[in-house]
Amino acid sequence: MKPRYRAASIPLMFLLLVCVQISLAQNKKLPNVVILATGGTIAGAAASGTQSAYTSGAVGIDTMLAAVPGVKDLANIKGEQISNVGSQDMTFEIMLTLAKRINALLASNAVDGVVVTHGTDTMEETAYFLNLVVKSKKPVVLVGSMRPSTAVSADGPLNLFNAVGVASDPASAGRGVLVVMNDWIHGAHSLTKTSTTAIQTFMSPLRGLVGIASYGKNDYYNTPTWKNTTESEFDIASVSQLPRVDIIYAYADMTGDLIDSSVANGAKGIVIAGVGNGNMNKVSLEAAARAAKKVAVVRSSRVITGTVGRNVEVNDDEMNLIASDELNPQKARILLMLSLLKPRTTGEIQQLFYLY
Ligand code: ASP
Repeated sequence: MKPRYRAASIPLMFLLLVCVQISLAQNKKLPNVVILATGGTIAGAAASGTQSAYTSGAVGIDTMLAAVPGVKDLANIKGEQISNVGSQDMTFEIMLTLAKRINALLASNAVDGVVVTHGTDTMEETAYFLNLVVKSKKPVVLVGSMRPSTAVSADGPLNLFNAVGVASDPASAGRGVLVVMNDWIHGAHSLTKTSTTAIQTFMSPLRGLVGIASYGKNDYYNTPTWKNTTESEFDIASVSQLPRVDIIYAYADMTGDLIDSSVANGAKGIVIAGVGNGNMNKVSLEAAARAAKKVAVVRSSRVITGTVGRNVEVNDDEMNLIASDELNPQKARILLMLSLLKPRTTGEIQQLFYLY
């Protein structure tokens, strides 16, 4: 009996060896994706699965990955922890570290794409910032979740699976920085958070979706046309600080003194989250024109969709103001900060708002 078993096990071992070799060869063919973790609800933990209170940025990258079965079949994955904060605490120091790390990683032939895990509160700001300063066409994908990792029906694991699927897909390249949430693929320029709590929170109201991600397979509908990444003139390689730009929210019967105090407190630029088409009342407009003699002033809108046009209800030419075109206040702020890294005229900054 025993020798017969031994004889039978030789072909079995050979088969096993072949299988191992095939799977190693397949692994080599998988794209190499690096996940850079920054925190957020996707890394959040609560005391129970149905508790609404939780701490964001409590769980590390390895624990997050362990909750995503099958993700290692999509790509060879490496993880790095850049920070572990709720994105309400995102800083430009972290954003600059992140951007520089992404540029270094993507410059290497050994990396095909990057996924950034991030809180949803300021995800659109980081996504848009990266869209302007990453120097590669390879996919860079931001992902988060609305429910913490400990919740019943946590949305993080599938979001992360899909984000890795998008970062591994050659068809994702050249579309600028992308955001993957709840099966939808958004472009960094156009998406915005629209619900404080619902998992279907991100929308791209003016431009629509870039595509759909479905269990690691992607369908693309369009490519954002705004200048980004390799066409962008913004370079943060030697930047360690960005100029202060404030956002001032407009409302009925507002006073203009917040605009004056922003200038007095050292802002180099101001974005007004105006009413309607970037409007504000007379006293605020006078304050904005006063401010525009010293700093760059952009008119954006508190309204979720639509553009802010130049010289529509406000005489921008006369008051030296800049219209934000399609950028919402938080993204207009990012573009203005980068624009102010070197001296530019109001007209030159206005052009940047049409291009980026
Ligand atoms: N406050 C959290 C954050 O932005 C919310 C989230 O991630 O959904 O980090």
